[in-house]
Amino acid sequence: MSTKSFQDLIKEVHDIGICQECGGCVSFCSSAEYNIIGFKDQYSPPVYINEDKCLECGICYYICPQTHILDDDLNKTYKFSDYSSMPIGYYEDIYSCQATDEEFLEYGTDGGVVNSIINYLIEKKMINGAIVSRTDAPFSREATFADNKPDLIRSSGTKLDISPHLDEIQKFSTYTHSIPELNHYKFKKLAVVGTPCQLYTIRCMQDLGVTPSENVEICLGLFCYENFFFEKSQIKKFEKDFNIKFSDIVKINIKEDVIFRLKSEGTGEKIIHIPFNHLKEYMRPACNACDDFTNIFADISFGGLGSPDKYTTVIPRTEKGKSILSQVINAGIINCLDLDSNKKDKMTELISQFSQSKIKRKEDFMKNII
Ligand SMILES: Cc1cc2nc3c(=O)[nH]c(=O)nc-3n(C[C@H](O)[C@H](O)[C@H](O)COP(=O)(O)OP(=O)(O)OC[C@H]3O[C@@H](n4cnc5c(N)ncnc54)[C@H](O)[C@@H]3O)c2cc1C
Ligand code: SF4
Ligand code: SF4
Ligand code: SF4
Repeated sequence: MSTKSFQDLIKEVHDIGICQECGGCVSFCSSAEYNIIGFKDQYSPPVYINEDKCLECGICYYICPQTHILDDDLNKTYKFSDYSSMPIGYYEDIYSCQATDEEFLEYGTDGGVVNSIINYLIEKKMINGAIVSRTDAPFSREATFADNKPDLIRSSGTKLDISPHLDEIQKFSTYTHSIPELNHYKFKKLAVVGTPCQLYTIRCMQDLGVTPSENVEICLGLFCYENFFFEKSQIKKFEKDFNIKFSDIVKINIKEDVIFRLKSEGTGEKIIHIPFNHLKEYMRPACNACDDFTNIFADISFGGLGSPDKYTTVIPRTEKGKSILSQVINAGIINCLDLDSNKKDKMTELISQFSQSKIKRKEDFMKNII
């Protein structure tokens, strides 16, 4: 394999508009202490900062989710063959679960399962904490470390006591730069919650044995059809098109469409469903070039799709994922619906449809840029 460098990522990934801004290259650069590459701002791909110090080692190139260099290794480790035979990756079972803790359930995105599991792992000292994402406005989140229940509740789906200062904000993104956060917790055992692009880069680093990926004890993967990005000028259009005031958004759920829960005078809560294809102009462009919907390399994947309101769809994949899931079920941390095989088949069929639609979207997009 010829030696590659960040320069090749610029040519092959950035210049054709498919950088997912996952931050893997920045976090795992072999010479991170020299600040060779970095994000100039959090809404565009990373750039060279000190190019003359680049070792041309190629690490950034190998772990990028858009170069697919290590796919064969990962497929073998995570028992994945191809999307046509496994549209939702390798799994043996699928569940619909809910937190038994009232606060995790109330503030959780769906069933509050992800944060309940993290809390259990912290209490049992299986991890020191987790890289999660805290809401600071309806469409803006920030990566953060949580090692206790109050911090996890603050990182749950519902916006708590934060009033968004919309006038001060120029851009919004639903995407969180979680991976660079790993570098701040080098000596801790971590869980990481992430989108498929983020967990892919961690798995590549683990495959190559590069620091600090060995600290990641468990990868908790979110389903992800796409993420959204708003310029300030688009906010007014969005509000007008969908008759939604940003400041009224209490919660966002993603299932077959995007569900906005709004504060509403008198009636309590108003719910608006918007199909994905109506939100195209707000989608992060690089999400077009992504084909993993269900986070096929996670230890356990989680989504809203397929489960009733206030329940999370849970797909354990690895031995570690399966063991942790059975521990939290046995400990009464989460309850799972008693689904018969017919119901499970329907869930997997629906999730497969979304996976296939994402794969097709990538195929169509790539045809136009290559
Ligand atoms: C950007 C995004 C897109 C998604 N797209 C889909 C989809 O298309 N279809 C679908 O079925 N489900 C999707 N999900 C997953 C779904 O919204 C829920 O996160 C999932 O069902 C878990 O719910 P829960 O109540 O069990 O999680 P909770 O217990 O509420 O925990 C959620 C965890 O996710 C973390 N988190 C929140 N936002 C981010 C982020 N941007 N990056 C990294 N971590 C984050 C939180 O900090 C928390 O630790 C998406 C989630 C996100 C964040
Ligand atoms: S997709 Fe991730 S690893 Fe690849 S260039 Fe973009 S930020 Fe770096
Ligand atoms: S030193 Fe290696 S990992 Fe860092 S930018 Fe250069 S090629 Fe990429
Ligand atoms: S669709 Fe999700 S996983 Fe794919 S690039 Fe966008 S944010 Fe990352």
